[in-house]
Parts: sequence; structure tokens; C-alpha cells
Amino acid sequence: MISSINPATDQLLAEFAVHTEQQIDRQLAQAAKAQKSWAQLDVQARRPHLNKVAATLRQQKEALARIISLEMGKPLSEALGEVEKCAWNFDFYAEQGPVFLADQVVASAATDSRIVYDPLGLVLAVMPWNYPFWQVMRAAAPVLIGGNGMVLKHASNVPQCAMALEQVFKDAGLPEGLFCTMMVGASAVPRLIQDDRIAAVTFTGSTPVGRSIASVAGQALKKQVLELGGSDPFIVLADADIEAAAAVGVKARFQNTGQSCISSKRFIVEESVAGRFVDAFVAITQKLVVGDPFAPASTIGSMARRNLRDELHAQVVASVGEGAKLLTGGNPMEGPGAFYQPTVLDHVSPAMTVAREETFGPAAAIIRVKSVDEAITVANGTPFGLGASLWTRDMDRARLLTHQIDCGAVFVNGMVASDPRLPFGGTKQSGYGRELGYLGLHEFTNIKTVWTGPAKT
Ligand code: NAP
Repeated sequence: MISSINPATDQLLAEFAVHTEQQIDRQLAQAAKAQKSWAQLDVQARRPHLNKVAATLRQQKEALARIISLEMGKPLSEALGEVEKCAWNFDFYAEQGPVFLADQVVASAATDSRIVYDPLGLVLAVMPWNYPFWQVMRAAAPVLIGGNGMVLKHASNVPQCAMALEQVFKDAGLPEGLFCTMMVGASAVPRLIQDDRIAAVTFTGSTPVGRSIASVAGQALKKQVLELGGSDPFIVLADADIEAAAAVGVKARFQNTGQSCISSKRFIVEESVAGRFVDAFVAITQKLVVGDPFAPASTIGSMARRNLRDELHAQVVASVGEGAKLLTGGNPMEGPGAFYQPTVLDHVSPAMTVAREETFGPAAAIIRVKSVDEAITVANGTPFGLGASLWTRDMDRARLLTHQIDCGAVFVNGMVASDPRLPFGGTKQSGYGRELGYLGLHEFTNIKTVWTGPAKT
């Protein structure tokens, strides 16, 4: 059984039977058939279907957001924003699909030579729970406009979200099975990857699981995009607007109850301004309201599972034991649910647990550094390389430094965020490949060269 549990109350909401081998086989057969017909459609004919998905998401926004908050504990206001963003992504790819998929004529010895973008087939999406709609829909829109189909294996703690997503596509009138949800656990993933009807894999989740999926997909020689963990630096240089940095920093760390791959996790601050930054950061953190995800005042909800809260708490306790100074928070909240106090640790060193490991919850680590060079060294001193936020008023210096930070995206004087228009992804242990933008669409196409003679002499 796959159980849906409200992490804010510990209440069992629903249970779902795991799909049998026969059900899996039937779904794959239906998805493969639907994809073949879908691929025959011209991109212009696919566009209205994506607009319809966007419209359906907007029509059902309240009900869908409720499911998100119930299953993974985020404040309802954030869940509503998540559904809206999914709708934006579908409208974006409906509009830009024909531009991104247009043939590219390339001069060569041929009479005509060009690059065309054909569908790959069925893409298996193995997805996490933290943005249970957005993670899936940011991948689904480019996959579908490119003429592919999608088979979803969602995280086991968000089965109602998985079912709701499948229903959105049905309600929007997409071909039956073109997007389907497999109600299966992690152990079914290798079998799905190896199935001949699956052409490629997109995975968002932790680095160890990414490594395991990559090895199975590599063995099967199937294309993969891996969006993995992160420990993003938030670098505050001495000439930065400190108040703005602190306000954005709190949002960057605590949004989604701190459970985001691109949350800023390590605040690397030049010593000369660290006192001011820390005072402002702690003051804003202490104004956050932890509570019932459905209460309008709540800015921090429950963490998604009790074991995730235990893991975060163990990291905080270990770091305090290693010498970090606890400025606020630092404990699980009493009572039902997986609530955790918004936590700030100062005087963290790069060797401490919260700096070495990814912290997936509401805990910020502040690392004080003596120079810009040290800030960059510390920022890069991690196996991860997803995003980075850099704060300075000196734009010439910022331009130079952006090239020195090993990661997939640098946001100068802003918070790292995904945006349908811009590519998203990591380097090092944060994965490879890109989502979003035109590059995200091209990942799941067959980039085909078409050469037409006679050759010019
Ligand atoms: P996870 O444990 O890696 O799970 C992600 C998905 O993989 C779930 O569907 C899970 O299924 C499945 N899975 C687990 N073990 C597996 C295995 N051995 N083989 C195949 N599939 C397996 O990650 P999570 O805890 O859900 O999510 C948090 C992690 O995701 C963090 O590290 C975070 O940084 C990362 N993340 C990255 C991005 C990005 O874009 N880079 C975005 C969001 C999150 P079950 O639930 O059934 O176990």
C-alpha cells in the first residue's frame, strides 16, 4: 500500500494499492500508443492542448493546492502559487514550442542542411515530493510539446498529488494515457527504465538516488536528465545592500519550509558586515509564523515527513556539538505534525555538518569569511553545484565572480528561482542536463541532422 499522510497532523488520509505488473504493462502499452499518435501531430496542433492544461490547472487551483498542502504540509498560499506556476509553464511552452522546435538551417556543402527536433518517445519521470506539482509539470510541458509522452513515478508520500496530476490531463482532454501515473514504489523504477517502451528518464531527487538511476539508465543506454541535491551558497560581500540581502536571504532559506533544492543553505558573509547581516537575518527569521498550513497567517508549514525532521534536527545538533552558535530555533515543535522551529546557526565552519551536507528544512548556516577570495573558495567547497546568490553593488566584480562559482545558475542581488524562460540545472553532484527554456525542451528531442543533396561543388 502507498499511504497518504497529512504531515501536519500525522493523520492517515488515504491508501492506494500498488500497481500490479499487469497494470504497469497495460499503462505502458496505452502510453506508448498514445505517444505514437501524439507525435504525428504538428507542433501547432499540440499547442492548444497545452493551453487547455494551463486553463484546467487555473480552474481547479483551489482544490489542487489543497491536496498539495494536505499531503506535504506547505502553507496553502505557497501551494496556490505552485499551481499557478505550472499553468504559466504550460502556456509558455504552448507559445514558444514552435519557436524552439523550428528547423535550424545550417550552411554546409549540401543543397540544404538543417537540424530538426523529433520526439524521443515516452519519458519516465521519477519525481520528489517537495514541489509535488511543479517538479512534474516543469518537466511535462516541454516533454509534451516536443511530441513525447510522460510516465510519472511520483514520491510515495504524495500519491494524491500524483493521481490529481493524471486527472488534470484527463480533464484537459489530452489523449488517454499520454500522461500517466504509476502507483509504484522505488523498487519498480529499474524495471520501468529497462522497459523498451521507455525512451528516456528525467529524475529530480537526492544525489544518491540519482547515482543509482543513472547507472540503470546508463546500462540501458537511455538518455537522462538529473536534477539532484544542492547546498547553495548565498554570498554577501562587504559592499552589498545588507538589509535587502537579509530580507531576501530569509525568504531564500525558509520558503517551502526550507525544503527546496535551490534554497540558499550556506550564508557566506564577509566578516566586516557579518554582525549587521546576522542581526537583520535573525530578526526577520523570528517573525516567521510556523503553523497550520491552512491558516492564512502561517508562513512556515510542517516538514513533509517526521523522518525528514529527525534528519534535519540531527544535523543541527551535530553542528552545535562541532562549535556552531545557535542564534534562534534549533528544536522540533511539540505536538502533532513534523513542525520545526526556524533555525539560524552562526560561526559555522565549512567542516561542520550543516555546511558539508545538504540541509533540507528550515535551518540556515552562517559562515563568516575574511575576504572575497575566501568567500568563493568556501562557496565552491562542496560536492554540489546547483545555484548561488551573490550580493554586491559592484557589477564589474559581480560579472567576474559569476564565472568563478561552480554551479548551474548565479543570481546577482536576487534569490535563485526557476523560471520557464531560463535553463535550470546543476553541475558536479547536483546533476546534469537542463530543464526549462529552449535547452530543457531540446533535452528530450532527437536532434536530427537532415542533409539534402546534391552537394555543392
Ligand atoms: P529521493 O529520496 O531521491 O526521492 C525522489 C524520487 O526517487 C521519489 O520518487 C522516490 O520514490 C524515488 N526513489 C527513491 N529511492 C529510489 C531508488 N533507489 N531507485 C529509484 N527511485 C528511487 O528524494 P526526496 O527526498 O524525495 O527529495 C529531496 C531531494 O531532492 C533533495 O536532495 C533535493 O535537493 C532534491 N531535489 C532536487 C531538485 C533539483 O531540481 N535539482 C528539485 C527538488 C528536489 P519513493 O518516494 O517511493 O521512495
